[in-house]
This record gives sequence, C-alpha cells and structure tokens, in this order.
Amino acid sequence: MSSLKENLQYFDKILDGTNCKLIAVSKTKPIELLQEAYDLGVRVFGENKVQEMATKYEALPKDIEWHMIGHLQRNKVKYIAPFVSLIHSIDSIRLLQEVDKRAAQNDRVINCLLQIHIAEEESKFGLDEQELQALLTSDEFKSMNNICIKGVMGMATNTDNNEQVRKEFASLRKIFDTMKKDYNGDNLDLQEVSMGMSGDYQIAVEEGSTMIRVGSSIFGARNYS
Ligand SMILES: *Cc1c(COP(=O)(O)O)cnc(C)c1O
Repeated sequence: MSSLKENLQYFDKILDGTNCKLIAVSKTKPIELLQEAYDLGVRVFGENKVQEMATKYEALPKDIEWHMIGHLQRNKVKYIAPFVSLIHSIDSIRLLQEVDKRAAQNDRVINCLLQIHIAEEESKFGLDEQELQALLTSDEFKSMNNICIKGVMGMATNTDNNEQVRKEFASLRKIFDTMKKDYNGDNLDLQEVSMGMSGDYQIAVEEGSTMIRVGSSIFGARNYS
C-alpha cells in the first residue's frame, strides 16, 4: 500500500491546474492520522458524524476547515454550528432553517451545499429538481440571512458502469449551471459542485467537479466495527 504522503502527492498532482479541490474524508480515522495529514499540509477534512467531527475539532489545530458531508439531523446542528466551514448535505428546507437559526445564534454565516439526488438508488438522500426549485423560490429561503448556498453536492450510483456514473455527474453539473443562471440573492454565491469519491473522482473531475470527497484512497480502507 502507498503511504499517506504519496497518496496526497498523487492528488496534488492530478488536481494541479484544475478548478477542483480535495476534501480529505477522515471519518472513522484516528486523530493521530489526521494530525499526520495536517503536518503534510491538509487543511480541509470531511466527516459524516456530528459527535466525531466535534471531538476532532477540539483536538486538532484551529485553522482546519471542517466539512460535514454526511446526513445531518436537525437536532444535532447546534453542535457543529460554531465552527463548521461547509455543510454539503442540506436536503430539506427545515434543515436549512435550523442551520440558519443556529448560525445566527453564533453570529456567523454558515456556507452550505444543497444535496441533489442523482443516483438510481432509492437509498441515497437528496432533493430532486422540483424540490430544489421549491426550496429556492420559497419565502422561507429568501428570508434566511445566516446561511449562504455555495452550490450543490451529489453521489453517483455505486456501479461499475462508468457511463452511468458519467451521466449522473453531468446531470448534477447541468443542474448547477442552470441554477447559476436562474437564481440570485444575498444568500446565494454559486461556485461549488461537490462530486466524486475514491471510486469515481476521475469521472467527476472530467464532468466539472470543484470538490472531490476522497477517503479510502488517501487514508486506506475503513474498518467499521
Ligand atoms: C465516506 C464518504 C466519502 C468518501 O468515500 P471514499 O469512497 O472512502 O472516498 C465521500 N462522500 C461521502 C458523502 C461519504 O460519506
């Protein structure tokens, strides 16, 4: 297996000259390993559990950007609201309202991505295009002053069929481009398309990703015990 340093150098190299950033997905990995990545220059980590992210935030240097990439429950937003840099997984107006409220309590604006359902699988979270439109045109959304929508996030179907994955990523990019054309407002600053993981980041970059979320190809396979 290649080392953490080699893996990070590899991603540096393939993203060099692109408009795409690396989110190092460190879920389930111990703090010492994150510190090692930090010492090698990583400043953006992705986590999918609120408690784990809060614990790691407390333990590690404060110039790290913490990205919440997993499904987020409303009753847990308050634990990450003081420090989270970007929430990738907004999938309802009610969740966004809670983020707005907790951001206001912390006297800050929290950057968010809207998670769009692009996969064939039923189980993946996310808004469909109709729900996206309903959210963006709602009065509730327009009155939110403590969130900023930076773009969209999506997960492709977990399949070996690269053409299907490509089609799904292309559809997310198209939704983003249309959104950018059709909507504007003080709480919108559309720049990011978060798509691509260890198994499909190459296709995602080709299809216009601006953030790939990579875990196992950097840190090695995860053990869920
Ligand atoms: C775990 C996870 C990733 C990274 O997965 P790898 O296959 O390990 O790269 C990316 N995005 C989300 C939403 C995840 O939960």
